[in-house]
Amino acid sequence: MAFTAPTVPTVANLIDGQWVDGSGTDTLTVLNPGTGQVLTSFRSSTAEDVDRAVAAARAAQPGWAALSARQRSEALHAISVEFASRLSEFIGLEVLDAGKPLTAATEEELPDIADSVRHFAGAARVLSGQAAGEYVAGTTTFIRREPLGVVAGVTPWNYPLWQAVWKIMPSLAAGNTVVIKPAEITPLSTVAFAALAQQHLPAGVLNIVNGQGSVVGAALAGHPGVDLVSFTGSTATGRNIAAAAAQNPNRAILELGGNAPVIVFDDVDIDSAAESIVGAALYNAGQECMAATRLIIADTVADRFLEAVVDNLKKVTLGDPTDEHTTLGPLISAEQLDRVEKLIANRPTSSTVLCGGNRPDRPGFYLEPTLISGLSQDDDLIQQEIFGPVMTAQTFSDESEAVALANGVDFGLAGSVWTRDIGRGMRVVNALNYGNVWINNHLVVAPDLPIGGFNSSGYGKEGGQLGIEEFTRVKQIGISLT
Ligand code: NAD
Repeated sequence: MAFTAPTVPTVANLIDGQWVDGSGTDTLTVLNPGTGQVLTSFRSSTAEDVDRAVAAARAAQPGWAALSARQRSEALHAISVEFASRLSEFIGLEVLDAGKPLTAATEEELPDIADSVRHFAGAARVLSGQAAGEYVAGTTTFIRREPLGVVAGVTPWNYPLWQAVWKIMPSLAAGNTVVIKPAEITPLSTVAFAALAQQHLPAGVLNIVNGQGSVVGAALAGHPGVDLVSFTGSTATGRNIAAAAAQNPNRAILELGGNAPVIVFDDVDIDSAAESIVGAALYNAGQECMAATRLIIADTVADRFLEAVVDNLKKVTLGDPTDEHTTLGPLISAEQLDRVEKLIANRPTSSTVLCGGNRPDRPGFYLEPTLISGLSQDDDLIQQEIFGPVMTAQTFSDESEAVALANGVDFGLAGSVWTRDIGRGMRVVNALNYGNVWINNHLVVAPDLPIGGFNSSGYGKEGGQLGIEEFTRVKQIGISLT
């Protein structure tokens, strides 16, 4: 598999079907994280640009909502067909802009995004609800599911196109119009997707505004013309978004950070569990909100299990994402690399780095795959989201201690339990305060299934029927029978 360099799109705003530069005064640059070199630059946007995009979306919404579910679905399926036929361009953009290893992007991430586009194109044709009936004597009542109006999407850099698609497609399918704000360091694939989608949509149905989060994202979250803000990003920004949205109030979906626990009991097949868990820890260089980061291992097998983890970490091929042999690409930016390195450097003296921990001597923003043991529950490496190719290890002596360690953080996005005892597996996942839990697996994601966290990982669901329903409002209609 050879890397084909894509055409880097011009980053501009799409407002009411027209491509226009942002009206801000700053120039923002987009870097290739694999080399540190500049890919392109663009003008920042202002709150006035956001006003224009929201006005365009609001004006286009009644016409889009008036189409039948079938008509909207047909337009979205046309996007799906064209996207699937041009997948290699999007693979190239995600490799260059987000540092995705070519093989993972080609075999997993981009085909999965194409599947998501296809799934959401049809999903709003089968909305469900409570049966009509005489819940009050003399009146037949039924519910109607309506679009909300204008949905604002604010996306992160770790899955730039994936996140944009999971917001744009279900929102449009349900009859909303959309304004999307990509992460300013990874706008390329979303801009290219909007250009593709625009050919199949009426003007104003899909709009895009590029720029800083504190300006564009903040203006969108609190905008009186927006009905729902769907945000994926850090917990700190999620708090700002929720506060801004509360002013109107706008509805909010918050898909925030995580630091997933991985509980390993003493009855697992050590080699196969270690291999699967390392794969789920290092996917996307660990910049994955559900990454299998936090090992919590039965003390009777901990040494053997950690040896197997180290063996697997040593098999990783760190390198240029455009090389098909690379299995571990760079972190997204110098800032992200610094942040992760500081967490490692500030580890307690009682801890041990069993593998990695260093920045390799090469351009770009790379970090060796790392495993750190000997940590306590209140250490930053346990309490904070690391968001890099770093795993931590703690041990437990019984089931209740394992659950307490797993639940003993503020986050609540994802976690897994590894055991051959299915009753124990069920007991433990039932006790976990996490929105996505797996037994003998980790990172099971599909557009058919709802994703969403608890606690500091946010609220609301993306994906599945619940994820479509988030982009609708329910109206109760009662008809007198007299
Ligand atoms: P971030 O919060 O820094 O930025 C996310 C987006 O918010 C960007 O578009 C940014 O420009 C914008 N933004 C920044 N400040 C803002 C403000 N004050 N108001 C409005 N918008 C603002 O997050 P990031 O660093 O880009 O992404 C990584 C984070 O995303 C991690 O914490 C990760 O766990 C999380 N994430 C969560 C999920 C999930 O499904 N729960 C999925 C992917 C990523």
